[in-house]
Amino acid sequence: ETPAEKELRSPILCILGHVDTGKTSLLDKIRSTNVQGGEARGITQQIGASFVPVETIKEQTKGINEKLKVNFRLPGLLLIDTPGHESFNNLRSRGSGLCDLAILVIDIVHGIEKQTVESINLLRMRKTPFVVALNKVDRVYEWQKYVNLSMNEELKLQNRHTAQDFESRTNKIIAQLAEHELNAALYWRNSDYKKVVSLVPTSAVTGEGLGDLMLVVVQLMQKIMSEKVTYRNTLECTILEVKAIEGLGTTVDAVLVNGVLNEGDKIVVSGFGGPIVTTIRSLLTPPPLRETRVKTALIPNKSIRASMGVKIVAPGLEKAVAGTSLYVVGEDDDLEELKREAQKDVDSVLATDDTEEIGVTIQASTLGSLEAFSTFLKGEKIPVAFKAIGPVHKKHVMNAAIMANKDPKYAILLAFGVKVEESAMQTANELKITIMSEETIYLFVDRLKTYFGAIKE
Ligand code: GDP
Ligand code: MG
Repeated sequence: ETPAEKELRSPILCILGHVDTGKTSLLDKIRSTNVQGGEARGITQQIGASFVPVETIKEQTKGINEKLKVNFRLPGLLLIDTPGHESFNNLRSRGSGLCDLAILVIDIVHGIEKQTVESINLLRMRKTPFVVALNKVDRVYEWQKYVNLSMNEELKLQNRHTAQDFESRTNKIIAQLAEHELNAALYWRNSDYKKVVSLVPTSAVTGEGLGDLMLVVVQLMQKIMSEKVTYRNTLECTILEVKAIEGLGTTVDAVLVNGVLNEGDKIVVSGFGGPIVTTIRSLLTPPPLRETRVKTALIPNKSIRASMGVKIVAPGLEKAVAGTSLYVVGEDDDLEELKREAQKDVDSVLATDDTEEIGVTIQASTLGSLEAFSTFLKGEKIPVAFKAIGPVHKKHVMNAAIMANKDPKYAILLAFGVKVEESAMQTANELKITIMSEETIYLFVDRLKTYFGAIKE
């Protein structure tokens, strides 16, 4: 089989960036454009993701593709619906990134901000390639809107001051990215997609640049990353969320990256109390031709083929761990082996193998965020002695207190995006244990610098 004949699956895309750069607006715009395109061509809502079929992309990029002449081989794009760090952290597959490609959104007016840097670090950590959407281009000085033109052509039609304003803002961002060891260029000037990050000007308000963005993504996936998105029969499925649903019990929302899931399949899932073996009762997806604002019941499927977002109903999923892989027990599979495999994933993050005798105590809300936090601290050379998922209770503070005798500077608890219970707070006050509680990783940077700096003196 030549590479050209290989079947490709839809790449999984996620959106990252600083708050208010327009991540949600971009997603909404992509979705609403498609809805206007008519039902058959429209987007199909999936669980945790939206599927943009290739027909829709062709339609949207018709005007600008006359010159670029991209041939479409992908069946479509699967956009993860929840933008931001937290969902990106959970989009893991056995320690590596689940996203095939990320869209990093930068506000062209604001340039690089704190969470932009954090996003870049997360993308590096998961080795996820990305393109940059230079969003809010409509806010460039006296910007004129044109339709059905590529952004390169649009720029040529802008007045001189507008073009200058655009260039200087873009150059500033390129320089800022270079400070973080990233080479970047406007996509039409990028001759090396492998080494240079493409910048795509967009506006989530006017819709300009969205076609460009899709074409850049499609080209990148087809030219450079086709191997990665070649459809495989070997099952690859990651749990995004564990949810209790009235009438269904505890269900898991999952992304099927490769392979097929069937109703009745025997599966193994990682659990907080050990591996869970169960049987798929139903595979639910929203109906394909659904009215966007009308809430319709989910429909059962006999079988689901990658890549897709799906809700899995099965008994005994209460303790399933989000961010871990799901396995199907095939005829020739050794169940015990699969159970060990499934548990390894949770253990690799939670186990004490890589914790130190002396170090800080950390807590995060999910497996993925705990993993990202641990990696961050390792990078900062801060040893970790205890780690856990979920809210901070008294017993966790007691763990941190153990350090008071061993090395008092490590008698601190870092709570990343989790609630600190009242009783834990009280205990911390009594035992004089510092609890640092923050919603994002980058907010810990300065606090830890100050803390350890002050301790050293
Ligand atoms: P998020 O926090 O990254 O998800 O950002 P939002 O999508 O919530 O957008 C933040 C604000 O920026 C909202 O008021 C949006 O209307 C506005 N916004 C988003 N994209 C654009 C854009 O392309 N142009 C302009 N002018 N405003 C935008
Ligand atoms: Mg948002």
